[in-house]
Amino acid sequence: MSYKLFIPGPVAVSEKTYRAMAQPMIPHRSPEFVALYRSIQTGLQTLFGTRDAVYLSTSSSWGVMEAALRNVAKKKVLTCMNGAFSDKWFDVAQKNGLAASALRFEWGKPVDPAALRRELATGLYDAVTLIHNETSTGTMSDIRALAEVLRDFPDVISIVDVVSSFSALPIPKDELGLDVMIAGSQKALALPPGLALFTVSQRVLDRAATITNRGYYFDFLEFQRNHELGMTPTTPTIAHIYALQSKLEDIAAEGLEKRYARHARLNQTVREWGFAKGFKLLPEARYGSLTLNCFENTRGLDLVAINQVLKTKHQLVIDGGYGKLKGRTFRISNMGDETDATIAALLAALDSAM
Ligand SMILES: *Cc1c(COP(=O)(O)O)cnc(C)c1O
Repeated sequence: MSYKLFIPGPVAVSEKTYRAMAQPMIPHRSPEFVALYRSIQTGLQTLFGTRDAVYLSTSSSWGVMEAALRNVAKKKVLTCMNGAFSDKWFDVAQKNGLAASALRFEWGKPVDPAALRRELATGLYDAVTLIHNETSTGTMSDIRALAEVLRDFPDVISIVDVVSSFSALPIPKDELGLDVMIAGSQKALALPPGLALFTVSQRVLDRAATITNRGYYFDFLEFQRNHELGMTPTTPTIAHIYALQSKLEDIAAEGLEKRYARHARLNQTVREWGFAKGFKLLPEARYGSLTLNCFENTRGLDLVAINQVLKTKHQLVIDGGYGKLKGRTFRISNMGDETDATIAALLAALDSAM
């Protein structure tokens, strides 16, 4: 049985994208590949708001999230934690044998710029990790305010996960002065999972050059060296790159401003539906994510049963809460290719299932 995903990743993939993926394979050291690779650079740089190279990693986002630590952290990394993904980044730093300190916030609270400033002012750190949109709690931190703090600590490399916000709203890397930005294919880009995209500042490459234990598969200097040739370090997931090329066409055809406005509008539609039904957002509304809504299950509904009805009667599913929030919250994604009509259909199905 097939059903449509309204969970915050992976999200539904269009027929056009699937068709793009079905194109014949080409050798990854051929002129055809170089042309494909180079054809998408400008579009990706626009989305990341950067003039730096955008690298393609055949891995999920976590591959690059782990790699970023390995490529830049020498002294100590500060991990900002306010949900499942950001909490895990702390464990990942420790599993890599890196010195790490946790800056903890309650789940559903954003990362506080003043607290970040106080901690960085200790001078203990040379890297910091930050998740812009904590998908587990539907909480979006104020990236501009955080970037302003980070700019006052030029020796600290910022590693920013924009996995579930990338391409749904502007997050201009160069203007904000961010160092590493990491996105994934299966969130707002609405491609299948398996490809991570990232871009780094010159400071990152300079730092990486002073670190010996970067490994091979995720060595940022290998990515840069191959990028200059229009290639990736190892055989990439070429089908995803075709899909990405197709998606960039879609984005150009819609127009960036319209794409951003569509995400904001659909998010608001879902949010207002939730409020009308008597649910509260988990985060304070002004920190509510623009790509999903995480509602508290204030009515004590049986989310497993509701999802079962949604799946069998309406061929769609939402998310019944992540990790320790399972059953206590539910999340509805509005990222990717959704429209007023598809969101209206989802909400009608939810009304009926409830
Ligand atoms: C989905 C997600 C990830 C994890 O991505 P994988 O593709 O599973 O590696 C990381 N961070 C955030 C914020 C996410 O939403």
